[in-house]
Amino acid sequence: MKPRYFIQTFGCQMNVHDSERMAGMLDELGYEPITAPEGADVLVLNTCAVRERPEHKLYSELGSLRKLKHTNPNLIIGVAGCMAQREADSIRRRVPEVDILLGPRNLHHLPHLIRQAQRNHPHAGAGEATDETSKADGLDLECDPTPVTPVRRSNTIGAYVDIIFGCNFKCTYCAVPSARGREVSRRSIEILDEVRQLNDLGYREITLLGQTVNAYGHDLGTLDDGQRIDFAWLLQQINKINPKLRVRFTSPHPMYFNQRLIEVIADTECVCEHLHLPLQSGDNDCLRRMKRTYTIEKYRRIIDQVREKIPHVAVTTDTIVGFCGETEAEFENTLRAFRDIEFDQAFMFAYSPRHTTEAWEWPDDVPAAEKQRRLAELIALQNEIARDKNRLLVGGNYEVLVEGISDKDPTRLIGRTRTNKLMLFPGDLHTYPAGSLVEVKAEEAFLWGFVGKVNTVFNRPQQPKMIIELQAA
Ligand code: SF4
Repeated sequence: MKPRYFIQTFGCQMNVHDSERMAGMLDELGYEPITAPEGADVLVLNTCAVRERPEHKLYSELGSLRKLKHTNPNLIIGVAGCMAQREADSIRRRVPEVDILLGPRNLHHLPHLIRQAQRNHPHAGAGEATDETSKADGLDLECDPTPVTPVRRSNTIGAYVDIIFGCNFKCTYCAVPSARGREVSRRSIEILDEVRQLNDLGYREITLLGQTVNAYGHDLGTLDDGQRIDFAWLLQQINKINPKLRVRFTSPHPMYFNQRLIEVIADTECVCEHLHLPLQSGDNDCLRRMKRTYTIEKYRRIIDQVREKIPHVAVTTDTIVGFCGETEAEFENTLRAFRDIEFDQAFMFAYSPRHTTEAWEWPDDVPAAEKQRRLAELIALQNEIARDKNRLLVGGNYEVLVEGISDKDPTRLIGRTRTNKLMLFPGDLHTYPAGSLVEVKAEEAFLWGFVGKVNTVFNRPQQPKMIIELQAA
């Protein structure tokens, strides 16, 4: 019987894709995936350090998983991701059963670390299973994060493609730079090969990933003809592969927006009409303390320019309330920004301090109850805005990429518009297979999107032939 692995993922899309890469490497080592930790020979928790809750969850998960070592002393437990990088000492101290610690930049070391852990088992004590060398190998913040690895895609319709790793910004609340290190752009030839391969396999949608995705290329220089390699250029090259491929990207930074990028986004057919642009606060003093490096005026200008070029674009954002020193007047400015900009959707959070960040040293002086009050007020406002915006779109026809059957109602299918809104509509996968492009008339609006009815089938899928492939040639 083949040895088996189980990966549990916390956090963002980057973590989801990192898990796909680790799964690809484990497949190549001869392991097979299982859907529960019991019975696994290798267990990996891929962690997130952005907020406090996933951190607590990690220790409670590890508390139950460590018990599995009693029945299988050769079980290898790995902790990967941002917490492995940032909390290595604490994880080793609190859970000595952990064999492997693997920072997000070091994923390609997984096979070698597994071999090393296997060599140490079963005679070494659990705490010694990851010796100093293997620990160092898995936590090197300076290492090159770009080596090609196999990928086990978790989806046969949409695929994630890494384009830039790390972050050079120093937002005072953010733990990402201490976990993912400095920015490194992936070579464009590898990215384009991967997109070409995904397109040939029948994937319909690509999401380009990077902590500051639109910083892509600033470290790559120019091509032989003098053409600068940047994010706008990359979008144009992907469009040449297949303009009908849906392309999304997350997350851009306002500082890397310029007129040219806005024009390319507007004029490049493959780029979906959806911009997710983190705002974080609507107040300039608060933005300054956060070291976001832009003002609310600059942010507004970008949105105005994007909306002028792409009138039906959907704009979504991330925002934090209750950051250190946030006054009532500053919070009011965030409410005002939300009223003025009218986001289609927003991910809103109450600030929680993360250690190793600059703000960790500052007083966390907005009381918890006040943070929750502000969060509730902002969410209520945003929900009202989103519902109103969606109501105005009822009656329109939208291109929808069919994703599958609705969890809540098996008589309905679910898909997304190019603007990333959910659409539910009656139908079955025989008539509209997952991956089909259909035109759906929106008949009823909700906070999250619409319920509608199919008008036309544009295109049925050529199903992906396989879900495991190499990232690049
Ligand atoms: S841009 Fe700021 S918030 Fe985003 S990953 Fe970098 S440091 Fe964190």
